[in-house]
Amino acid sequence: MRILVTGGAGFIGSALIRHLIGDTRHEVLNLDKLTYAGNLESLAGIDNDPRYRFLQADIADRQAVGRALAEFQPDAIMHLAAESHVDRSIDGPAAFIETNIVGTYQLLEATRAYWSGLPAERREAFRFHHISTDEVYGDLHGVDELFLETTPYAPSSPYSASKAASDHLVRAWQRTYGLPTLVTNCSNNYGPYHFPEKLIPLVILNALEGKPLPVYGDGSQIRDWLFVEDHARALLEVVTHGQVGETYNIGGHNEQKNIDVVRAICALLEELAPGKPAGIERYEALITFVKDRPGHDQRYAIDAGKIERELGWTPRETFHSGLRKTVQWYLDNLDWCRHVQDGSYRRERLGALETD
Ligand code: NAD
Repeated sequence: MRILVTGGAGFIGSALIRHLIGDTRHEVLNLDKLTYAGNLESLAGIDNDPRYRFLQADIADRQAVGRALAEFQPDAIMHLAAESHVDRSIDGPAAFIETNIVGTYQLLEATRAYWSGLPAERREAFRFHHISTDEVYGDLHGVDELFLETTPYAPSSPYSASKAASDHLVRAWQRTYGLPTLVTNCSNNYGPYHFPEKLIPLVILNALEGKPLPVYGDGSQIRDWLFVEDHARALLEVVTHGQVGETYNIGGHNEQKNIDVVRAICALLEELAPGKPAGIERYEALITFVKDRPGHDQRYAIDAGKIERELGWTPRETFHSGLRKTVQWYLDNLDWCRHVQDGSYRRERLGALETD
């Protein structure tokens, strides 16, 4: 297949492209605007592969997307481009509305124009796969409750509201125009190449520098964690074998309190990075409770039974095996982290523009 991936320079998009190029014969066009979250260094090593191409473009630019579709002639689109950080959505929701809602709308319209011009056989085989989050379902209070594909939407943050809106648009384009779409809603991802503003990499990198490890509220919020490479395998399963018009929840059966995640990272660092910064006896001593995020959801947990039953996907990593791999990856790739932290991953690609 020829697959156009949007947001392929981001955390999950780059894991998906590494999987598509490394483990399959598919061809990939990575269409990414390269916001602060896009990092082509996450694709180092595959960028010279003849089955991989990159195009810097905004999904909200319908003409640019239309030209890319006409030229690349994809059989599928896997749409991951988004503004994705909840805290940023609270401080400045505008970019979330622009990219996640308006951008998805423009992408759908460019895709519909391209798709309706395809010959019948290719039109039928075409897939538009929209990648979304379990945060659209809102908050769970009952201990045994799980999000199902039929759970009503109740988003709490500007981020999750914008993703909910984009999910509705995608489903409407399937019902109204017959565009062959699929939607997946996944729990929190973690793993290599995760931008250091997110909880797990932030805790690892702060601990190595002897800085405080911030935990919101009392740290009792529960998240269901999935190793990013398990997510990438699930996405490929859905785009190749999923039923058009269906939604699949993807999760790792790994519910953890935030405070337990931070403690587990500290324990792994004690073992894998025993040479602590001066004056620090135990990494755990760096844990600092900070004022809770407004509107913070208490618990998310996914029932991933449908994708397991219908498509035979199951996660390979447990939380503990995946977390160990992740901590070790950060210890082995401090250069990648330093380039993100000092901004050089952006300077290199902006080149001449950067002097303005
Ligand atoms: P990310 O922030 O790491 O990457 C987003 C990518 O999209 C970046 O490369 C960025 O440059 C690009 N982008 C942003 N705006 C764009 C635009 N207007 N046009 C083109 N490209 C643009 O995000 P992520 O964590 O990899 O998440 C990818 C997708 O998966 C998102 O849609 C997110 O909602 C969803 N998701 C994420 C998680 C998670 O835990 N990270 C869980 C479930 C679902």
